[in-house]
Amino acid sequence: MSKTKQPGPIQIGGHVSSAGGIFTAIGRAQEIGAEAAQIFVSPPQTWRATQHTDEAIAKFREEHAASKLGEVWVHNIYLANLATETPEQLANSIGSVVNALTVGAAVGAKGVVLHTGSHRGGGMAPVLDQVTDALKRILDATPDITLALETMAGQGGAIGKEFEDLGVLLRAVDSPRLQVCLDTCHTFAAGYELRTPEGVEATMRAFDDAIGVEHLAVVHANDSKMPLGSLRDRHENIGDGHIGTDGFRAILGHPAFAGKAFMLEVPGIPTEAKPKGDGPDAENIKRLQAIRDQVAS
Ligand SMILES: [Zn+2]
Ligand SMILES: [Zn+2]
Repeated sequence: MSKTKQPGPIQIGGHVSSAGGIFTAIGRAQEIGAEAAQIFVSPPQTWRATQHTDEAIAKFREEHAASKLGEVWVHNIYLANLATETPEQLANSIGSVVNALTVGAAVGAKGVVLHTGSHRGGGMAPVLDQVTDALKRILDATPDITLALETMAGQGGAIGKEFEDLGVLLRAVDSPRLQVCLDTCHTFAAGYELRTPEGVEATMRAFDDAIGVEHLAVVHANDSKMPLGSLRDRHENIGDGHIGTDGFRAILGHPAFAGKAFMLEVPGIPTEAKPKGDGPDAENIKRLQAIRDQVAS
């Protein structure tokens, strides 16, 4: 498969706010020492899409080009559910992904990460045709950037708890634009071992069997507050959760992750001003960079 050029180094990035103009995300990413950035292009809990001016989009591209930041990814809003039973919610969901891909392409993003939706515990078979059709419609209506379906912890019948959920969708849609985002917290909570080199090897062999490692496009790097197989999606700072520093060392050292962007979506280290943390921060970036540099040496 891979006769392509050698992947570059792993990029350590994080999700940053773009409040006050989409271009402000570039400065925030640089402030925490990120090497890559993930943003929302619309508030994640509302359907109404933010209207970005041409100036704001041009400024994003200029500031990104002038920065040392690598990949930019967009996270779709959380309301989307391509397996919904409600026609109105399906239309809104498709619209939200079309918007994210369109704005993402305009700002020069590599792609959009999507929580595909929920099969409500009924498995993929009853929803496969609807979700496949929705994904095809989305890809037909949008510019040529990646749409990455995210692995999920499995709360509420989430599609993506099993790698096979995403594999069956990739095969049904059959587009090189449809790829996968592996979230370390979600995957671990879903029951895939990530704490040891042997565990990571077994997990990535399962990923390869169900999806194909060549379809791994980007990584969400989050430790987990909850134990293996808890099915609960609770992110923790790098090294402070159940995956732990040893787990991240095993992950970053595995060849399937070579050259990928690792986006932190962690709560952040508590401070006096922010007792609950302030999201991906310089300390979490440093922790993951230190692990990467140790693994590489
Ligand atoms: Zn994630
Ligand atoms: Zn999560």
